[in-house]
Amino acid sequence: MKPRLVVYISLFALTVLILIQFYIINQVYRLKANEFDLKYTGLVQQSLYDLEYYSGENGLDSVFYHLEEASVQSLDRIRKLAFVEDTLEAYSGIIGTFEDIILSHESLSPYIRSYLSEHQADPDFNSGIVIRNLVMLDFPDELIVYSEAQNFTTPFPQPESGSLKNALQVNSYTAEGNYYRIAFDFYIDFTHKKRIIYREMAGIFTLSVITIVIVLFIFMYTIRNMLKQKKLSDMKTDFINNMTHELKTPLTTIAVASSSLADPSIHSNEDRVVEISRMIGKQNRHLNQLIDHILDIELWERDQVSLTIQPVNISAFLHEKLGSFRIEHTDESITILEDFDLKGEKVKLDEFQFTRVMNNLLSNAVKYSFEKPEISVKAELTDKLVISVKDNGIGIDPESQKHIFSRFYRANTGDIHKVKGLGLGLYYVKKIVEAHGGEISVDSKPNHGSTFIIELPK
Ligand code: ADP
Repeated sequence: MKPRLVVYISLFALTVLILIQFYIINQVYRLKANEFDLKYTGLVQQSLYDLEYYSGENGLDSVFYHLEEASVQSLDRIRKLAFVEDTLEAYSGIIGTFEDIILSHESLSPYIRSYLSEHQADPDFNSGIVIRNLVMLDFPDELIVYSEAQNFTTPFPQPESGSLKNALQVNSYTAEGNYYRIAFDFYIDFTHKKRIIYREMAGIFTLSVITIVIVLFIFMYTIRNMLKQKKLSDMKTDFINNMTHELKTPLTTIAVASSSLADPSIHSNEDRVVEISRMIGKQNRHLNQLIDHILDIELWERDQVSLTIQPVNISAFLHEKLGSFRIEHTDESITILEDFDLKGEKVKLDEFQFTRVMNNLLSNAVKYSFEKPEISVKAELTDKLVISVKDNGIGIDPESQKHIFSRFYRANTGDIHKVKGLGLGLYYVKKIVEAHGGEISVDSKPNHGSTFIIELPK
């Protein structure tokens, strides 16, 4: 399957999963809200029962007394009105007054509150009422101020009903006095209901969020790895194709050179023989380098180079590596200066990998130099080991300096390229240095040479 398709399918599956999670959380919230309502309805009903059982009253006695008073006044008011519009307005005022009286004189709320507190439940709520029917008794007439049953429409909506949408209906009451008849529902709305439910859901909610984050993380990690692998495999194919091509040049040169050596007429010409053998030597070195690069393919996949660390006399080590490099390049006029301040101390490192580091830096110093490369290698051991390789070559412009340690990066070096490169040398150098816990940096200016500085912990 194509990677892109896999990404799309996984994204789709993930989105569905996340939506399902949200759906489940939403359902859990509803369940919890129902549970809350059930629990609190039970408690409130029980408290009302207790109230009546122990005190013989329903918490509204003083309300009814005040309603009677208000009814007398209301009837007085209505009798004086001549127009229908005024009467309707008066009705609305009466409903408001009745509501206010009920809410300010009921003693249900304080009782329910203390009952809830006693039973370790949350006692914070607002009370409200919805009047179902309200009739003024003006003997022998009945004035219907509001009637739900007859679908009697007051032009004025009841003020409390909107805000009581999610409230608990505690009880319905009907009462009749000398001048009024009323039916209303009593509601309570728990102020902290949402907070209490959320608190109960905190566990499941956190768990859901954590799982979603983990799944997302794994998804991104997998996709990233998949794309990385794909890129790597494409790069490998390109690399092997290039390499096969590159290997042909030294092989052909060696083949031609050896057949020249096989020609007896050339044996008398000593200079020519030396020249051909040098050429073979040079191509041999090049072949070796190319094969090293092929062996290095394994480094591409590893984030860490595996090291075989042992104490190495760093002064002797560097001296020997520079010596070998000189011998390998005797045919080129290269000057290599050594300036070591190492006191014969030993440093723990992987000798094999560090040889590659030094060889890469030295070959680059030669490759990217003008006619007579002058290389100066300094090494100093204090609380850390600092090795610098300085050349008098073409230098590197600041923009390229940011990229030279990246895989396959090659700066534009004009015509100076003596050997074709792959843009891998410094990438390996950096990897190896970092595997030793060290750092590498470059200090360079175009046409003024470059200095590569390695810092390793002791
Ligand atoms: P390669 O030499 O195969 O191109 P490297 O990774 O060794 O790959 O180097 C990357 C690039 O850094 C080179 O292409 C070159 O442009 C630049 N570079 C490396 N060393 C030097 C140097 N000593 N002087 C100037 N440029 C350098």
